[in-house]
Amino acid sequence: MSKFDALIAERQALLDSGVTDPFSIVMDAVKSPTEAVIRGKDTILLGTYNYMGMTFDPDVIRAGKDALDQFGSGTNGSRMLNGTFRDHMGVEQALRDFYGMAGAIVFSTGYMANLGMISTLAGKGEYVILDADSHASIYDGCKQGVAEIVRFRHNSVEDLDKRLGRLPADAGKLVVLEGVYSMVGDIAPLKEMVAASKKHGAMVLVDEAHSMGFFGANGRGVYEEQGLEGQVDFVVGTFSKSVGTVGGFCVSDHPKFEAIRLACRPYIFTASLPPSVVATAETSVRKLMHAHGKREQLWKNARRLHGGLVQMGFRLGTETPDSAIVAVMLEDQEQAVAMWQTLLDRGLYVNMARPPATPMGTYLLRCSLCAEHSDAQIDAVLAMFRAAGEATGVLPG
Ligand code: PMP
Repeated sequence: MSKFDALIAERQALLDSGVTDPFSIVMDAVKSPTEAVIRGKDTILLGTYNYMGMTFDPDVIRAGKDALDQFGSGTNGSRMLNGTFRDHMGVEQALRDFYGMAGAIVFSTGYMANLGMISTLAGKGEYVILDADSHASIYDGCKQGVAEIVRFRHNSVEDLDKRLGRLPADAGKLVVLEGVYSMVGDIAPLKEMVAASKKHGAMVLVDEAHSMGFFGANGRGVYEEQGLEGQVDFVVGTFSKSVGTVGGFCVSDHPKFEAIRLACRPYIFTASLPPSVVATAETSVRKLMHAHGKREQLWKNARRLHGGLVQMGFRLGTETPDSAIVAVMLEDQEQAVAMWQTLLDRGLYVNMARPPATPMGTYLLRCSLCAEHSDAQIDAVLAMFRAAGEATGVLPG
């Protein structure tokens, strides 16, 4: 256990400086998608991935309760044996309908969807080519598999093209991209990246975890927004963000897609999601197909928050409100912790993010918006950011 000493000491030093541990927050009660009680205080939530506010949708909750009553609390087993119930089939059909694709496979989390898909798709002597800022689940999918790994510079089409060009022309290649990168909320130039991938004969998997429900005419993600339907081989997603529950999935039109179920260890060797979870997911996915009002409100909220913070003089991760994530960039850990703590004390929860989760050693406060945030809440958030910025010296007083 001695290898953990440095980590333990670093955490202790942070706590000794008098701050609440940013990585041990407990929600004592959750009142709505945007409000919780934390340490006895009513707090606005601006650091969840509840983009579409589906966690308290009455139809979603009803579906979960009905499934609990009819099917019990769990499945006790793998999808492959005793763990496939009616609603696992139902949610996979909802995903086929949502994406307009022929195949859908549900995993127990989004993390496992990436782990399973990447490690299973790319075999011995083949290549996975991934963005340097990829999510941990993508890196872990590479580690779990046996393919060669090639990284390219974040969002650089030129670097992707160059690295693909160096690989053996006849080797199998899988390019893994994300629609929205979750730390700073920036968007991938998917159109150019997919074109470069196809030029070199690579298949493409896009993780659309942070875009489902509000990018593209049907809410399918950044690939839909950039006109890439039919050109992306695999789309990975999660139920833990816009869908408002837990679970992961991959959808595809590939004629041999179903074979993944027979070979994918993170699909086979674990228990399936409880019936109540898949029932809530199915209802939520179907409602997201028609959630045009929520989409508009979410984008309005993102613009209001981004614009307000820029006006105050905060440095943000993106110049424009490109997604539902707004990242406030700070100098160092001390400044990030001070801002984070001051906001929490005033009744606002955001995510504090730091290396190694963040790109280029940055410290940031990540705000993620919800369609259910009201104008008044966004204004209250902005007032808290101004007060905290002045109190900590991040903004000139
Ligand atoms: N991919 C990306 C880009 C993510 O940000 C996340 C979660 N933060 C995941 C996958 C994993 O999703 P899940 O929470 O369902 O495991």
